[in-house]
Formats: sequence, structure tokens, C-alpha cells
Amino acid sequence: MKKIILTGDRPTGKLHVGHYVGSLKRRVELQNSGEYDDIYIMIADAQALTDNADNPEKVRQNIIEVALDYLACGLDPEKSTLFIQSQIPQLCELSFYYMNLVTVSRLQRNPTVKSEIQMRNFEASIPVGFFTYPISQAADITAFKATVVPVGEDQLPMLEQTKEIVRKFNSVYGETLVEPEILLPDNKACLRLPGIDGKAKMSKSLGNCIYLSEEPEEIRKKVMSMFTDPDHLRVEDPGKLEGNTVFTYLDAFCKDEYFAEFLPEYNCLDELKAHYTKGGLGDVKVKKFLNSVLQAELEPVRNRRKEYQKDIEYVYDILKKGSERAEAVAAKTLDDVKNSMKINYFEDKDLISEQKKRYAE
Ligand code: ATP
Ligand code: MG
Repeated sequence: MKKIILTGDRPTGKLHVGHYVGSLKRRVELQNSGEYDDIYIMIADAQALTDNADNPEKVRQNIIEVALDYLACGLDPEKSTLFIQSQIPQLCELSFYYMNLVTVSRLQRNPTVKSEIQMRNFEASIPVGFFTYPISQAADITAFKATVVPVGEDQLPMLEQTKEIVRKFNSVYGETLVEPEILLPDNKACLRLPGIDGKAKMSKSLGNCIYLSEEPEEIRKKVMSMFTDPDHLRVEDPGKLEGNTVFTYLDAFCKDEYFAEFLPEYNCLDELKAHYTKGGLGDVKVKKFLNSVLQAELEPVRNRRKEYQKDIEYVYDILKKGSERAEAVAAKTLDDVKNSMKINYFEDKDLISEQKKRYAE
């Protein structure tokens, strides 16, 4: 069986370091591994509109931002198909048929959708499109017969929903769709990177992000304002690591070689953590180190982005060509789906002869 990747992001803002460790970095590694037959990376504008219906301009503006962030991180249009969801009409058609395979109560049980509804104060007025987005996500994944979906932990319920739809579809209509596997980050800190406020997950919609395109001074300011251990008041006090955002970020980003470069008194993160929990290590020193780490990680990304920013037309052209390629693949899957569902009336010669025979009797 072919190895195919599909994943994507909502164009609701620029991409941030949570996306980077949760999904983007992995995608680039998988792309460059050469182990995959096809890689599809989708800018999910139609999904973004499900909770931004009255702000289409926000979605429109952010398409190029997400595309630039992709290219800046090393996604390569020669190796990966970068495309825009709304340009693939087959995805809507697939969603429409999948809707018959899912119950309202099943959608209501989705924990990610539940918390997103709360976050957006949608309790009494959820747009139907938003409520059903896990179904449309199943269409996105299955349209490309994806076998692997590299995403953050918040996407687990969506993958479960997709698998259920695939099983149900195949059992009712015959083997047609491919069941995908989720690929979560190996590093626990990357599963759901918290925001700089330390409260919820870093999310474009919450304004608690460090963006990939952020300038050095902004990164520094954000790091210095980050949430640590509120009881760690004096340097000599023992500090807590749990819930300490600065250490969570170090877990996500730090490599041993950064110690040699920026903080040679320690050899590795475990040594730094041991000193912090014992007492005698101040937050400012740890934050300064995290700042150096983030600056080192983000500088090449920001510089590459600036290069692509000089040729915006080229970036739109990549998306156009990618969307054309993606549409051809989705059209083939839609044909398979309609054939399996036997809603291919005009291609089905047997149907016409059956009906002719029935009326001739
Ligand atoms: P929105 O607030 O509009 O939903 P978002 O910041 O949650 O935006 P998405 O476009 O929904 O971003 O998510 C894109 C991908 O990034 C998904 O695979 C998701 O799991 C991953 N992701 C998003 N935020 C984080 C995070 N804080 N930590 C790890 N992965 C994340
Ligand atoms: Mg999200």
C-alpha cells in the first residue's frame, strides 16, 4: 500500500511555535525522509470559515501567511503538494455523504469540539458547519487516501471520527476508503504546547503565541514575560517544574548542544532542572537561556520567510498548482465513493438494462 500523508492548518493567523513542534517540524522531516509516496498539506480555509463566517477577510488574508510559514519551515513544493481546501469542491461532496454515517450525539461527544465551543462562547448558537467540522476533516483525509496524519494531540478525536466513518462506509458500501493513522509528536511537551500565559494550549485564537515570523526583540519580550512557578519568589527558593511554562518550552526545544553554546555551566536539561528544583537558580537566567534557544531555532525560519516574501506571486502560484493537483486526486476518490454507493447512474450500464428488463416483464 502507498504511504500518503495529509495534514494542514487553519488560516486564522500566522503559524506559531506550537504548530512548529506539534506538527510542522515533523512534516518537514517526513517529507525529507523520502519514505512517502505523496504528501498533501492543506490550508483549511473552508474549515476556518466555520467559526469565522462573518470575518472572511481574516481567512483570506491569512492564506498567504500560512503558505509563507510553510515554505519558511522547509516544506518544499517539489516534494509536497500545498493546496487550499476551498478549491477542491469534491471535499464538500464527500462530507455530504459522510454526514449520513455520523449521529448528532456522536458529534456532541467530541471533546475537542466541546472545548472549542466553550472557548468561542458558542454554547447556544453553534454554527452547523462548525459542529460538523470533524466530518469535513474526515473528507479531507480520506479524499487523499492518507495513511498517516501528523498532528498535535488536539486532533486525536478527529482521527477517531475519521476512522469510524471509514469503517462504517466500507462496511455499508464495500471496501473503498483507507483508514488513517495519527502520528503524534514523540516528545510529550510537543503534544500540546501551552501558550506563554501557561494556561491553555498555544492557539492563534487565544493570542498567547510566539509566532514563527516574530522579530528577535518580540521573542525576547514574550519569553521574559512567561509564566513560571508563582511560588519561586527568591533565587534560593526551590522551584517547581510542573506547570512551569519556561521548562515545558525547554523540553520542547532544547538540544544538549545549546548548553555548550549558551549556558556552559550545565551539560544538559536534567542538570538545569535539578538545580532549579533544589533552589539557587533564578527564573531570569532560565528565561535568558530559553530566549537564546528560541532565537537559534527561529532565526533561519524567519530569514527563509523573508526571502519568499519578496516573491508573493510565486507563492500563490505554488498554491494554485498544488490545488489543481489535489483536485485531480480528490476527484478520483469521489468517483470511487460514488461507484461504491451506486450513485453512478449514467455510467452503470447494468442499471439501465435491469430497469428495462423490469418494465419489459
Ligand atoms: P485555531 O485557534 O484557529 O484553531 P490553532 O492554533 O489551534 O488555530 P490549527 O490550525 O487548529 O491551529 O492547528 C494546526 C495544527 O497544529 C494541528 O495539527 C494541531 O494539532 C497543531 N497544533 C496547534 N496548536 C498546537 C499546540 N499548541 N501544540 C501542539 N500542536 C498544536
Ligand atoms: Mg485549532
